[in-house]
Amino acid sequence: MRLLLFGPPGVGKGTQAQLLSEEYGIPHISTGDMLRAAIATKSDLGVRAKAVMDTGHLVPDDIIIGIVREVLAGPEVRKGFILDGFPRTLPQAEALSGIFASFGIRNYRVVELEVDDEEVIRRLSQRLVCQNDGKVYSIEVDGVSADAPCPDCGGKLFQRDDDKEETVRNRLKVYHTTTAPVIHYYEGVGAIVKVDGSGSIDVVNREIKAMLRDMAKT
Ligand code: AMP
Repeated sequence: MRLLLFGPPGVGKGTQAQLLSEEYGIPHISTGDMLRAAIATKSDLGVRAKAVMDTGHLVPDDIIIGIVREVLAGPEVRKGFILDGFPRTLPQAEALSGIFASFGIRNYRVVELEVDDEEVIRRLSQRLVCQNDGKVYSIEVDGVSADAPCPDCGGKLFQRDDDKEETVRNRLKVYHTTTAPVIHYYEGVGAIVKVDGSGSIDVVNREIKAMLRDMAKT
């Protein structure tokens, strides 16, 4: 299974990608997570990426395309993969088609998770991440609070800089202007299915898998 997962920030792509990765036994490739890992190590890439990410804008295409090309060349993605957060621009989508062609990859599925902007802002204002193991929590759903220990590992919970409301509004603007044409690109080249992302984690997960089963029949 090769899956491209789309949707605005906060729709639950990361959570769903993680679940599907465990269920299908294939790696979850999140460009956002890779950039955050680079930031944590204070590498050159990390320093450059942080400046861009903190404003809610996108890291330059050539950098991110290079990173993804390298990952997709690795042996761990042979059985399949879930791409979360890539491609986000038309040049990235075109580059990905080139990468797929060079590796002889013809079959992949595209799922777009949908939720409205106000719900995104509400959800992200509630999102906390563990500094230690990267687990994501919601203040209202999980009953956690900022600076409290992670229920799982005891690490400190914090709000991502780019989850602050002003940055989220920017990220949404970028999503609607830059990433929406990517959806049209996949509508043009093959099947893309849309899934309502406003339900609970379980409901959305079941819906995605049902859609994927239906797509497999066609
Ligand atoms: P995410 O965790 O997917 O919401 O990504 C967080 C941030 O990382 C985005 O707002 C961008 O600044 C950057 N980023 C992640 N993926 C990409 C990508 N494919 N292209 C450009 N920037 C990206």
